Amino acid sequence: MNNQEKADKALSEAKAKDEFESKQTPKSKKFGKSHRKVLDDDIKMEDHFDDKDFIKKRNITNNIHRKNYKEEEIQSVKSKYAYHCQICHVEGYESNSYSEHTENRRKMSEDAHIVKNSDGGPAIHGNLLSLCVYHHHYHGDKITPNMILESIKLDGSKWKNGIIHKLKFLDGDTIDIYFKQEHKDQIIKYLSEHENQKIVNFFPNKK
Ligand SMILES: [Zn+2]
Repeated sequence: MNNQEKADKALSEAKAKDEFESKQTPKSKKFGKSHRKVLDDDIKMEDHFDDKDFIKKRNITNNIHRKNYKEEEIQSVKSKYAYHCQICHVEGYESNSYSEHTENRRKMSEDAHIVKNSDGGPAIHGNLLSLCVYHHHYHGDKITPNMILESIKLDGSKWKNGIIHKLKFLDGDTIDIYFKQEHKDQIIKYLSEHENQKIVNFFPNKK
């Protein structure tokens, strides 16, 4: 047998082995757990931010002696925006990005507090923004309550059943953000009340 014949024989043996194994093992097992099908982008953004629309959230507080489960009623805006980030949405991240499928958006979206949780800001529509992880964590601290209020009190420009507003950062940067009218009204209501009550210092740098 010459070298060429040896190579051919080895090749046909390898092919036969491969064929035999693929018949023995179903594909799904061979490649491990099969991936779950990505859900269709079937949910729509909502126009109504109902005041009664609370969800139950279970909080666990660990105590030395026992675990305490505390149930609280909170609201969520991310589902109202079909898990779209109010900033990414304006930038048109709808194809070839995480934003294309609901399932991906679900993993990326967060309810971002305008008046921070630690400053006593509640999880109600009027104090929440729907932001992706990126915009929440990289812009969250720069977005202040007074910045939101001053921006959304203006008319903004109408777009896709909602309004686009410009947020002006202290360093001069601006960013566009999308709102549903009813959501915007609730934010103005909540922030105006709390501005008057002086619960939160909206203008810490003002003399
Ligand atoms: Zn975003």
